[in-house]
Amino acid sequence: LFAGQTEFLKGVVAMAGMPPADRVEVCFAGRSNVGKSSLINALTGRKGLARASNTPGRTQEINFFTLGVERYLVDLPGYGYANAPLPVVEKWQRLLRQYLSGRQTLRRAFVLIDARHGIKKVDQEILALLDSSAVTFQVVITKADKIKEKDRSRVLDQVRGVLANHPAAFPEIVVTSSEKGDGIATLRSIIATLE
Ligand code: GDP
Repeated sequence: LFAGQTEFLKGVVAMAGMPPADRVEVCFAGRSNVGKSSLINALTGRKGLARASNTPGRTQEINFFTLGVERYLVDLPGYGYANAPLPVVEKWQRLLRQYLSGRQTLRRAFVLIDARHGIKKVDQEILALLDSSAVTFQVVITKADKIKEKDRSRVLDQVRGVLANHPAAFPEIVVTSSEKGDGIATLRSIIATLE
């Protein structure tokens, strides 16, 4: 669906650097190592596209990709780095807050959660920020292939329990595996139908 029409546009470190808010936009957030780059690459069908955002110097940038001419896909910096210095964390939180509350065309935030870990405290902070910014968010479980079928319902129950306390939560949870391809088509069609 998006293959061949996704391009890296730019990485920004301040609101002023963002492209004009002139089209439907979705963003992806998640702890570092949650599988965000892999998921974006699987979604867009372009290997290595989201790699740039993983190199250390670029981790604080908000990366904009075009999906055809009608949409932006926004890759937010991974959070929860164990050794990130406080000023770096604070700068990133400020930019994130500005982005989430100031971006008129942002239709949905996809919050990635590792199937093995469920929602952690550091994820809860982002969810609270999404609530207060009134940005609808949808949980995407990643690396579903890493857990057994019987453990799936336990993770889903934990996530559902947390979502019940978040007014901005979209109730449907998308279970994905970038490795096996599970859930990728579902996620694509969700993005494609947002208006
Ligand atoms: P990011 O830091 O969130 O961008 O995470 P990456 O996409 O770089 O993935 C982190 C690690 O998890 C890498 O070693 C990936 O190969 C692995 N990974 C990502 N997605 C999957 C998946 O769906 N299944 C499995 N088994 N491993 C995955």
